[in-house]
Amino acid sequence: MSEAFVRVALDHPLPTLFDYRCVEPAPVPGTLVAVPFGKRSVVGLVAEVSAHSDVPTQRLRNVESICTGCAPLSSEWLALAAFAADYYQRSLGEVALPALPQALRDPARWPRLFAAAPRFRLTGAGRAALPDALPARAGALRRLAQALADAPSLDGSDARALHAKANATLADWQARGWVEIDANVDGEPGGAFGGDAGGAAQKPRDSARAPVTRPVLTAEQSQAVDEIAASQGFAPFLLHGVTGSGKTEVYLRALERLFEAAPQAQALVLVPEINLTPQFEAAFRARFAMLTGHDSIVTLHSAMADGERARSWLAAHTGRARIVLGTRLAVLASLPSLALIVVDEEHEPAYKQQEGLRYSARDLAVWRAKQRGIAVVLGSATPSLESWWHAEQGRYRRLALSRRAVADAALPAVRLIDLEEERRRGRGSVDGISGPLAAALKARLERGEQSLVFLNRRGYAPVLACDACGWLAGCPRCSAYVVLHKSEHALRCHHCGWEARVPRACPECGNVDIAPLGRGTQRVEETLAALVPGARVLRIDADSTRRKGSAQTLFSNVHAGEVDILVGTQMIAKGHDFQRVSLVGVLNADAALFSHDFRAGERLFAQLMQVSGRAGRAGLPGEVLVQTRYPRHALYHALGRHDYVGFANATLAERREARLPPFVYQALLRAEGRTLDAALTFLADAGAALAGIPGSERVTLYDAVPMTIVKVANVHRAQLLLESASRAALLATLRAWQPVLRSLKGVLRWSVEVDPLDI
Ligand code: ADP
Ligand code: ZN
Ligand code: ZN
Repeated sequence: MSEAFVRVALDHPLPTLFDYRCVEPAPVPGTLVAVPFGKRSVVGLVAEVSAHSDVPTQRLRNVESICTGCAPLSSEWLALAAFAADYYQRSLGEVALPALPQALRDPARWPRLFAAAPRFRLTGAGRAALPDALPARAGALRRLAQALADAPSLDGSDARALHAKANATLADWQARGWVEIDANVDGEPGGAFGGDAGGAAQKPRDSARAPVTRPVLTAEQSQAVDEIAASQGFAPFLLHGVTGSGKTEVYLRALERLFEAAPQAQALVLVPEINLTPQFEAAFRARFAMLTGHDSIVTLHSAMADGERARSWLAAHTGRARIVLGTRLAVLASLPSLALIVVDEEHEPAYKQQEGLRYSARDLAVWRAKQRGIAVVLGSATPSLESWWHAEQGRYRRLALSRRAVADAALPAVRLIDLEEERRRGRGSVDGISGPLAAALKARLERGEQSLVFLNRRGYAPVLACDACGWLAGCPRCSAYVVLHKSEHALRCHHCGWEARVPRACPECGNVDIAPLGRGTQRVEETLAALVPGARVLRIDADSTRRKGSAQTLFSNVHAGEVDILVGTQMIAKGHDFQRVSLVGVLNADAALFSHDFRAGERLFAQLMQVSGRAGRAGLPGEVLVQTRYPRHALYHALGRHDYVGFANATLAERREARLPPFVYQALLRAEGRTLDAALTFLADAGAALAGIPGSERVTLYDAVPMTIVKVANVHRAQLLLESASRAALLATLRAWQPVLRSLKGVLRWSVEVDPLDI
């Protein structure tokens, strides 16, 4: 038996491939294999195959098993992973393997994952009894019975697509002798990869499905759709549409046109938050009901169960999934027939992964579109300044939706409430809610309209303080205050998770009068319940939505009109199409005006535009009240005029002046040490080593500095900023720097981040 050698990418920081021996025929590049690594067995991805090995062959270990149930990843996908690895300064395996669903990285699960699912078919008795035995109004049951009658057989997920409780129903029908497992299916080769077994027979045949109403496009929408549909080759679009302008409808029509022209094409639709997937999924399912096959529309996000996510991923990988709807991680899905990419709310910081491979899904989406020569649509009411600048230079084509789509829905009126002025006139706020805001909330309640109160801080109060001695409750493990969570009687660190019960008295001086300082969403919820009697107040933030599915339930309560005042963090600000919200109150926005982060203004403006955009979407006149101490600030003025363009151009001019992104390219080296000294020394040594790297003279190096929150969970953190007017020079320098960094010791961890968002 002749042997071959494979070079395998493993999820390991060493920037090399790992050599293994295997028997012929060797797996092709892109194949998943299980290999021994140290004492463990791990799954890796074959990157290269050769007839000989550079490593003495007696030292090589054997490939343990080859994943044959799964078609190899394409060379195109490998090129994507290789690009991301190089750009974000990681090993190929650190990109490729975490991009796969967990179930695929466990050889023990391979057989089940790829096994053909059992198929159900009607028996003669079933044909005689169904559907007459069913209650007349049981629509889903009838559809299931009809599908069984029409198709030779159905598998479990086809059945579940027709009827949510299909598992129980099929078991019941089996017990009655109406349904049996089809033993004659000789699962096509490759199990799940045999394609759409059953083919056209899977088409839901019911004519009962409610017809979808497609709105008449506005002239601007129609032009945007036409331009996208007519584009050839790589075509990046910036869809700049004010809130409520109907960007979703543009995506839907662009996909319709795509599938008309190319029935087998795949589209990737990215949304910034898991919470937005149900709303999008519903819209896409309703519109694309004609796509056959149960997994023609799939979602991909991190809150899915392992098995479910693996099924979605495989549906994308085999081309069965025609629409893949997901959060940032979906940008690395395998999509052999990818023909259109949509990135909704492209400005969202959530598209940037903040740990491990710190990639920008938006940027990778554009790269992927270029690689495949297809269109990519970046949609936003408040585009990132990076994308806006690309459009200004003509590198992205701008599509503008300047007005709201629903007839009579105007953008809301923005009013600034001057907190100083209120105080001077003796009209103080009640626990942070000013008189005008309270009055506006009451008026909405009387009219039966909904209000939304936005505050980007969760918990009850950001800190607990002692008036007598000045003590502030801090985290023993971090250089940060702990947040009071009153209902749980807990102090909680939002950085490391440390938790303690609220003390009865000041631990420093014994004073029992310790009091919460400042306010978070819980406190505002409590205040509003007291201030607006009779109002049903609901809070949505990371704390109130911890359980799986709870966010969706809470949002549907809002949509169902069971809530009068919705209080929340940025979770409530984006994307949601609330129909009856006519008032938005903004609390505590000022804090971001004077941040030392140069992107804070851009982020605040986007957040406020987005949250304002929740008001008045369905024709009710909308109003936004912003409480501020700086009513004359330029940012609030631009907000009041809904003037994104003015804000963007002014901010870009400042950035150009100050030589900040997008006019320069940045990278950060972060280090974590047992002491701050260790971290700073590491960074200083790393910086000194940069001088020896050819080309590094085009890179500006800043001093190593402690991070704003310098200690988290007893680890001290510092960072070093690199900057260059040339992206190529910066990347080349980083590449050459890597071996030096690996040779330096003395810290617990270090990492390089390219295009950092938080500095
Ligand atoms: P955006 O994402 O731009 O904020 P949405 O896509 O949520 O806006 O659309 C806002 C509302 O406008 C939705 O309720 C949508 O159904 C409606 N809509 C979109 N296009 C049209 C149209 N052409 N005519 C009427 N209503 C529309
Ligand atoms: Zn005290
Ligand atoms: Zn902590």
